[in-house]
Formats: sequence, structure tokens, C-alpha cells
Amino acid sequence: MLLAVSKRHPVESIIAANEAGISDFGENYLQEALDKIEHLSSMRINWHFIGPIQSNKTKSIAENFQWVHSIDRLKVAQRLSDQRDPAGPKLNVCVQIKLSDETSKSGIELSKAEALCDSVDALPNLKLRGLMAIPAALPDLESQRLVFRVLAQEYARLRPRYTQFDTLSMGMSNDFEAAVAEGSTLIRIGTALFGSRG
Ligand SMILES: *Cc1c(COP(=O)(O)O)cnc(C)c1O
Repeated sequence: MLLAVSKRHPVESIIAANEAGISDFGENYLQEALDKIEHLSSMRINWHFIGPIQSNKTKSIAENFQWVHSIDRLKVAQRLSDQRDPAGPKLNVCVQIKLSDETSKSGIELSKAEALCDSVDALPNLKLRGLMAIPAALPDLESQRLVFRVLAQEYARLRPRYTQFDTLSMGMSNDFEAAVAEGSTLIRIGTALFGSRG
């Protein structure tokens, strides 16, 4: 699946992409995202929150998004589940894993992923769908593939444990070929689709 990452691009770009058949959009910054979601509320869009989550912001995320890719601690997952309307569809979530000593501060260590996944899977209003990572930028396909392979192996190992675990969220504009070669099921593409964010 293609997730169109529309952060710092205007609603006009989202409308154009949606008319071209894209239904899923990813946003990192909560207030920007909420403005877009409200503006485009008449359109059939699945909104994915893919940025770092502050625990005091979980309510708006639980109420306005269909997916969250950036679960890296139980406290945030618990709050999202508590704040999700139990009468509606569950919130689809991925656990974010830190694969290397990357610049990103987000993500849980690989060795702790299984325990977090087990806890998230037990929360009533969340649906654990898979794993996500944002590896450090690497220049060549082979080294990109080696990093993605680590996540793909963990995904394959955990997959039988959970009922609806079907999403390997990896690959961005600069490394999606490597991610797809390693079995990504969801690439998150911003720049290659919408151009530079300036
Ligand atoms: C911004 C962002 C993307 C898209 O990055 P591009 O390099 O523009 O494709 C994907 N995933 C996450 C988590 C992001 O923050």
C-alpha cells in the first residue's frame, strides 16, 4: 500500500492525490493534521499519524485518525485505547522500532518490541497491525536492504502471535526500493509524490 505523506503540503495537494485514487494520507504534526482533517471532512480519507507522540496529545489522535504508526511506549498506547470511542472502529496501530543509532529519538529497541506488542495487542480499542521503522539514511541499496531485513525478520517472527498483524510499514522516498525488496507492505512517500517540502 502507498501512504501519501502530506505533511507541510497544502490541502490542494491532498485533493489532487485523492482524485488520482490515493485514499491514505500520513501526517506528522498534530495541529496541521487536525486542520486538514477538518477541512477535508467530506472526503473519504484514511488518516495516519506517523510522527512522534506526546502523551498529552493522544486524545485528538485517538479521535481523529484511523491509524497510528509511531507507538513506542505503553503509556501512549494505553491512553490512545482509553480515549478511543469503543462504539466505533478500533484504532489501527504499528509499533515503531529503532533499528540503528539513528537520528530519530523515537522507536523502541528491537529486544523490547515483543513485550510492547503483547501489551498493545491486549488493549481493547486498538488493533495491532504491525511494525514501523525509520532507518537512518544510507547511500546504497544493499546497506538499506540489510537494515530493513532486520525489521522484516522481526515482523515474520511476531506475525503468528497476533490475529490482524499484516503491516510492515517501511520505506520512504529515498529507500522504498530496498524496503519493497525486503517485503514492505506499506511505503510512506512524501517528497517523491508531492515534491520538496521546502
Ligand atoms: C516525512 C516522513 C515520511 C516521508 O518522507 P519522504 O522522504 O518525503 O518520502 C515518511 N515517514 C515518516 C515517519 C515521515 O516523518
